[in-house]
Amino acid sequence: MDDIAADPSHPRYASLLMRHRLEVAAERGMLAGSAMIAHGRGEAFDYLLGERTTESARLASLQALACLHHATRPVLSVNGNVAALASDAMLRLAAFLSCPLEVNIFYRTPERMEAILSFLDERKAVLGLDVEILGHAPDATIPGLKGPRAACHSDGILASDVILVPLEDGDRCEALVNMGKTVVVIDLNPLSRSAKLASVTIVDELSRALDTMLEASETVKRLRIDPSYDHHAVLNAALQEMLNALEED
Ligand code: ATP
Repeated sequence: MDDIAADPSHPRYASLLMRHRLEVAAERGMLAGSAMIAHGRGEAFDYLLGERTTESARLASLQALACLHHATRPVLSVNGNVAALASDAMLRLAAFLSCPLEVNIFYRTPERMEAILSFLDERKAVLGLDVEILGHAPDATIPGLKGPRAACHSDGILASDVILVPLEDGDRCEALVNMGKTVVVIDLNPLSRSAKLASVTIVDELSRALDTMLEASETVKRLRIDPSYDHHAVLNAALQEMLNALEED
């Protein structure tokens, strides 16, 4: 899948790999027109983070994993960029949590939905995982949202108590929070509306955040929700890391 020309020893290899995955996904019709812009915004913030997982991001990833692990009905939401960049990791996380993945995209067209669903089915078969993939037959709507982007499954996103929505836009994040759900966001921009509105925000690059969670799923014996977890303090710590990087230069 990742047959790119760049050498893994290249200092920007991880970034080049992600760009390549987006190019492949674009060719397959999985991405919205604005996908590259959203990715570029993420890359800019990742530069400020030094393209590494900070201590506060690790803390947020562990809290996120614990919330999902102890949920009654966890769901992982997947949009075009998430499918392009991290399908395998999302499928592995869903397998660990025994929960469904639901494809839920902002600019919904039947063609894009089909392209994303068939890519996830392919990867699921390659990995040999038993994961339920939803999104093909939405029968409910997220209250407070208008148009096709509100569509969801009643036995998926609608019924979930804890939901992971990586790279989510602010409106949908707000609508999910207003439904009383615990909303976990992965977003490199600590100032985005999603990052601020979510219950737990991991300010880290998507694939690194998922790697942290997958590693913890194997190594941490008892995943505990920290009752004193301070969402705003963790967000501020992420922002401070970026400001420190500017001062160091
Ligand atoms: P909001 O509506 O929440 O204020 P926005 O309008 O920036 O945010 P989008 O453009 O829908 O929302 O979301 C893209 C977000 O995802 C951006 O904040 C960007 O920083 C982040 N992002 C993009 N690529 C990645 C990635 N690979 N890992 C983590 N975050 C990413």
